[in-house]
Amino acid sequence: MKRLSLKIKLTLLYTFFMVLATCAVLAILLSLSNREILAGAQSRLERRVQDSADDVTLEDGGLRVDSDFYSVTQDVYLSLYTEDMYFLYGRVPYGFDVQPEIADGRTRRIAEGNTDWYVYDMSFRLAEDYTVYLRGITSVTDAEASFGVTIRFAVILFPLMALVTAVIGYRFTRRTLLPVKQITRTVQKIRADADLSRRIGLKAPEGRERRNRDEIYGLASTFDDMLEELEEVFQREKQFTSDVSHELRTPISVILAQCSECLEDEGLTARQREQLLLIERKAKDMAGMISQLLFLSRADQGRQPLQKETVNVSELTLMTAEEQQLLADAEGRGVRISCDAGSDITACVDETLFIRLLVNLISNAVSYSRPNGKVTVSLSCADGEIKGTVRDNGIGISEEDLPHIWERFYRADASRQPGGHSGLGLSMVKWIAEAHGGSVEAESRLGEGSTFTFHMPAGEPEEKN
Ligand code: ADP
Repeated sequence: MKRLSLKIKLTLLYTFFMVLATCAVLAILLSLSNREILAGAQSRLERRVQDSADDVTLEDGGLRVDSDFYSVTQDVYLSLYTEDMYFLYGRVPYGFDVQPEIADGRTRRIAEGNTDWYVYDMSFRLAEDYTVYLRGITSVTDAEASFGVTIRFAVILFPLMALVTAVIGYRFTRRTLLPVKQITRTVQKIRADADLSRRIGLKAPEGRERRNRDEIYGLASTFDDMLEELEEVFQREKQFTSDVSHELRTPISVILAQCSECLEDEGLTARQREQLLLIERKAKDMAGMISQLLFLSRADQGRQPLQKETVNVSELTLMTAEEQQLLADAEGRGVRISCDAGSDITACVDETLFIRLLVNLISNAVSYSRPNGKVTVSLSCADGEIKGTVRDNGIGISEEDLPHIWERFYRADASRQPGGHSGLGLSMVKWIAEAHGGSVEAESRLGEGSTFTFHMPAGEPEEKN
């Protein structure tokens, strides 16, 4: 199941507690007002009965009742009884068919059909030996009906209020979490482009002092400070690599120069010559590595220029393949390079870098080939894009290693590798392809061989923003 976003979770939580609080408040209010309504109806009934005692008098031995007695005021029906429950005068409400016992001075609640009634009896003496009972009746159900309107109103308003609460809660949460989204987006961009110069750069709302900013603004500015420091560290590291490579270049050149001078000496023993040749070979490997390191550190610092011009890439590919064949022949492992570079394909590329890319791919294919292995180089052009492929039937790369081969100094299995390999070649290949607005990918099966394919726009690539 898809996980709910923090925004939705907070909105649900917020709405849940709002609904809970509203329910509790409504329940208390409704129960209080219901009690209030019933108590009001009861006291109205009692007051009306007590006030009506003045409407009944004895005149010339006969009973005289004021006309007010008969009218239903404040929903109270009045009736008059003798002591032995004989009805004398008055009205009983329609539907009130029972004749409860007299209960002097006490209000009772009596249910009759679908209606509840309050009945209040009061005795009073009209003469020394003449006592009558005054009965007041009022409908509880009618009194409660007005309360029902309030409940209905609340039932309609309640979901509306919950909806409004949810909408406001959602908008509020979204606004609050907007900076988090911005932080995530910036970090994702930093990861995708490996560009540490990016900043989250959240602006505090106008007029807010730094100390008044909320936690998320604090987090964003801490992130920015951390990125600042990281960028500085990386910058220092790049500078260090570049400085060290520069410093090493001179002693290596001296070693190489001295080696070749010593090797010219005819008086060297075979053992001495062998040792000198080994020193020279290792120094050359080191010189190669230093030049690759310098290239990459210049590229990192944006100081590796691209001198693009329209060149015949078919010719360049063919020439590079032939040169690599000569080097392979010198190794004497019988590796054959076949090349199909199309005819006169032209592209706008940096010639030196394009050759460097090919040299790296072809020399790898040769190095990681088996004795008498076969390397196939091909180049084609379609839809304004050149596509180059270098295929070998060599040792191949395992599935676990394949995603990492583009990383600097990564070597799949150093123990199986020939000398002179630093693990920097493919990083350079990747940089060159991307700097030309293209890409490079690898397919491989361990023990069966590898295929490296690069694509580049044949014309001037569009400027990257
Ligand atoms: P290296 O200088 O070690 O060849 P690269 O960056 O050129 O460095 O290559 C990185 C790793 O990728 C190599 O160490 C090797 O394990 C693997 N690799 C590159 N090309 C091939 C290939 N054609 N066949 C098998 N493995 C290869």
